[in-house]
Amino acid sequence: MSALSTTLIHHPYEAPSGFEAPQHAVHKASTVFFPTVAAMRSREWKDKTAYTYGLHGTPTTYALEERLCTLEGGAQCVLVPSGLAAVALVALAVLKTGDEVLIPDNAYGPNKTLAEGELLAWGIRHRYYNAMDPADLAAKLSPATRLVWVEAAGSVTLEFPDLQALVRLAKAHGALVALDNTWGAGIAFKPFDLVPGTSQPLAVDISAHALTKYPSGGGDVLMGSVITRDAHLHMQIKLCHMRLGLSVGANDAEMVLRSLPSIALRYRAHDEATRALAVWAQSQPAFVQVLHPALPDSPGHGFWKALCDRPDGGAACLFSVVFAPHFSQNQVDAFCDALQLFRLGYSWAGPVSLVVPYNLRAMRTQWPAEIAHGTVVRLSVGLEAVSDLQADIARALLAMG
Ligand SMILES: *Cc1c(COP(=O)(O)O)cnc(C)c1O
Repeated sequence: MSALSTTLIHHPYEAPSGFEAPQHAVHKASTVFFPTVAAMRSREWKDKTAYTYGLHGTPTTYALEERLCTLEGGAQCVLVPSGLAAVALVALAVLKTGDEVLIPDNAYGPNKTLAEGELLAWGIRHRYYNAMDPADLAAKLSPATRLVWVEAAGSVTLEFPDLQALVRLAKAHGALVALDNTWGAGIAFKPFDLVPGTSQPLAVDISAHALTKYPSGGGDVLMGSVITRDAHLHMQIKLCHMRLGLSVGANDAEMVLRSLPSIALRYRAHDEATRALAVWAQSQPAFVQVLHPALPDSPGHGFWKALCDRPDGGAACLFSVVFAPHFSQNQVDAFCDALQLFRLGYSWAGPVSLVVPYNLRAMRTQWPAEIAHGTVVRLSVGLEAVSDLQADIARALLAMG
């Protein structure tokens, strides 16, 4: 008879198998048991048919990976601890000293910061291109270009690029194309099928997604994914992922699994509310420009319409306003401070509406031709009632003086 603690650890009871319930089980592990030494030696950590160590996957993370592949139309997925880690992993996995990466000037800011920091220090050069001008990308492709980032819509200013033209150019050049798919989320458009309805496949090579946004939907989880459709490229990324020791917590994975079934419904609800507010904002004299790809005069509207204007497509939960130039920074700050339902905070696609004022001049190599001059404020629309959100903005406009 073993001592109590030993029996409690090596307990003989096994619950019956076959338990089924709406939500996926949370499997937690660093250690995973093997039945024999032979199994320990022969089991391949890269295979998704078995388990070797928590870092390399559990039933919970495998299930989430497969559902994310279905969401985006990819074939393989790795999970990382944040959206930024997904962006960084792509660079670390495919670039080496002497290579060059091209990044849109309107990309998610920290993608550029990584290029200016670690990548440059490791002898990997970068250039920024104007995503609204495919000729600019064409001119900047060089023999050293290994990776081209694309993002649709652009960060903060929400210009929608001619994604098909950018991808075609980069691929014809022999570069890998990576998309930051956080805005589209696998809903607005399919990154691995960019010419819907034709037999000629046009696809990005890699989709990086901040699951922190729509897939979580709660404003309470940080996670990212890197999805591919090429087994060789996936293995290159997976090996780098393993060597860097990246992994995600089982409880966080479970929260994303729990939110995924409602992602299409939430995307639609956010989208409808955002369009209503963006249209209304156009009637406000304080704003010289309202940026939202579904508005006919927003930059790149035609490209958004061609790719995303389907009943099951969409335009996400963001719109930005450009304040008329006579408003001072202090007045714009006062507007943001006066908002009550729109809270000051980063991120988006959660239940709470958010607002961030930006200094566009500091973010871009030059002021974009499509954007009016003035202070840019980005609004992220949550799940509150549109009428309340509209009243909140109207009241803050009065309060700013
Ligand atoms: C939020 C975001 C990221 C980074 O995601 P985190 O989980 O916050 O690191 C990357 N790209 C885009 C477009 C984002 O909006």
